[in-house]
Amino acid sequence: MLKQVAEGVLLHESEFIQSNSIVVQGRTGVLLIDPGITSGEMADLANDLRELGQPVVAGFSTHPDWDHVLWHAAFGDVPRFGTARCAASIHDLLSHTDWKARIAGVLPPEFADEIPTDLLGLITGLPDEAAQIPWDGPKVRIIEHQAHAPGHAALLIEERGVLVAGDMLSDVLMPFLDLDAADPIGDYLAALRLFETVADDVDAVIPGHGSVGGADQLRARIKQDRAYAEALRDGGVPDDPRVGPSAPLDWLPDVHRWQVQRLAQREQDETPE
Ligand SMILES: [Zn+2]
Repeated sequence: MLKQVAEGVLLHESEFIQSNSIVVQGRTGVLLIDPGITSGEMADLANDLRELGQPVVAGFSTHPDWDHVLWHAAFGDVPRFGTARCAASIHDLLSHTDWKARIAGVLPPEFADEIPTDLLGLITGLPDEAAQIPWDGPKVRIIEHQAHAPGHAALLIEERGVLVAGDMLSDVLMPFLDLDAADPIGDYLAALRLFETVADDVDAVIPGHGSVGGADQLRARIKQDRAYAEALRDGGVPDDPRVGPSAPLDWLPDVHRWQVQRLAQREQDETPE
């Protein structure tokens, strides 16, 4: 089912950790951002769009994690974009002969049979200097940053006042750092500052997973995510309900502890003897 977020911006929520697929209406069809998770959900979405007389004319993946680079044949064979770094990262995965086995190893078991991987990751990287998505619709500004994953992009649909945040600014997930990066926490804090610079233009923020928030929520989420990242940096215990005893998802406190461990390990490895 499609829900309207703003004029010409619709949302489809998947069952798997409230994954959001975003539909932006253009002149001749729609831009589909982070297409969805299960085959059934994506086929339904394609069907809904067909009934609205709104074919998919382009796709975009906010980052190279499996849950953002799927596709269904019913959406059609249209250009699918990502940032250059995002495309390079997923193409690197696809260059391994055992990529399907690698992906299968990280899929959630309860949905694995319903997740179609045939068209996974077939995206074209936009040039580094691309400031917007090339398509026939409202201007969609690309706000690239390093924080959650290589080549992660948030998208600002200025005339609709909508910020598509990818896997940032979620009300249900705490920050997931890119622990392979040179400076995971520094990157995360820099990305949050970047979001602050566009906050005045945003009426609605759509996270990759979780609920849509208004302008106040955007600022509150920036603050909450900054507090989490700073607590990790300073060795403190984050006062964050998302990883506390009543966390909305019971596996999040484990991911949190794992992040703390990995960061401590890095620090140890970097300390000269
Ligand atoms: Zn995700």
